[in-house]
Amino acid sequence: MTSITAATAPLSPAGPAPLLGLSLPLPALHTTVLDWYEAGKRDLPWRTPDASPWAVMVSEFMLQQTPVKRVLPAWEAWLERWPTPADLAAEPPGEAVRMWGRLGYPRRALRLHATAVAITEQHGGDVPDDHATLLSLPGVGEYTAAAVASFAFRQRHVVLDTNVRRVFARAVSGVEYPAQATTAAERRTATALLPDDAETAATWAVGVMELGALVCTARSPECGDCPLFTHCAWQRAGRPPYEGPARRGQSYEGTDRQVRGKLLAVLREAHGSVEQARLDVVWPDAVQRARALDGLVADGLVEPVEQGVYRLPQ
Ligand code: SF4
Repeated sequence: MTSITAATAPLSPAGPAPLLGLSLPLPALHTTVLDWYEAGKRDLPWRTPDASPWAVMVSEFMLQQTPVKRVLPAWEAWLERWPTPADLAAEPPGEAVRMWGRLGYPRRALRLHATAVAITEQHGGDVPDDHATLLSLPGVGEYTAAAVASFAFRQRHVVLDTNVRRVFARAVSGVEYPAQATTAAERRTATALLPDDAETAATWAVGVMELGALVCTARSPECGDCPLFTHCAWQRAGRPPYEGPARRGQSYEGTDRQVRGKLLAVLREAHGSVEQARLDVVWPDAVQRARALDGLVADGLVEPVEQGVYRLPQ
């Protein structure tokens, strides 16, 4: 029986696999997480069997930097208005930015629109079902390609989001937090843990993600409720404190992001062009306000119409 230990960790052409500290046989690990997922998973609409690949793709774009609670109503409204990629592609990108509302990081709306256009023009309106083609779409990165291939098409891929990375860092590598950016070692670990069977691998991917979202949370993991409690490397090591570089905070108040959000809210609600004077009232610092507006224009989220007049991109 295969066991995840330093002695039996598989070797990779890129170098030795990292020390894997979760001494639980792989099949038992899979069963433990899959059973927990089956019993404890949230009932989310993009996980139902009748969710289309497009519905799954939209959810993945939205969930990347926004919590489920805020995504749910936005996702439902989006799919109601644009049930297929072609429906979205038929409208200007500014409509995607408008519908994105207050989900944050609105460049995702532009990328999703560009992806819908590419799917419509180059793939007959159907979300591609293979990882390489998904990866070639504008705005689709490694994570989204793997997630859509796995969740919409039940394929076998390493799906590494922040939740999964944190669970593996703790349970397998015995550290409280993973590195800031995904490392080759993490990818080798995740590959080594992936079930062989595609259907099982797809459920494993979402199961570990759910464990990270609900139990092995960033600030206060509920270890007493965790199915991996007795096997977790970080627990067994006495929960050593994080010793890596300072972790990025999530501050928002007073940042350019906040100013961009306020400017964009005015444009979203306007349904037409907006004069500079209406934008000037949203933030008192003229220098920061101008910088935020310039950034929105540079990102393609706002379009100058004429001197001192702006609108969402057409
Ligand atoms: S025991 Fe705690 S730290 Fe380990 S995987 Fe479970 S929730 Fe995370």
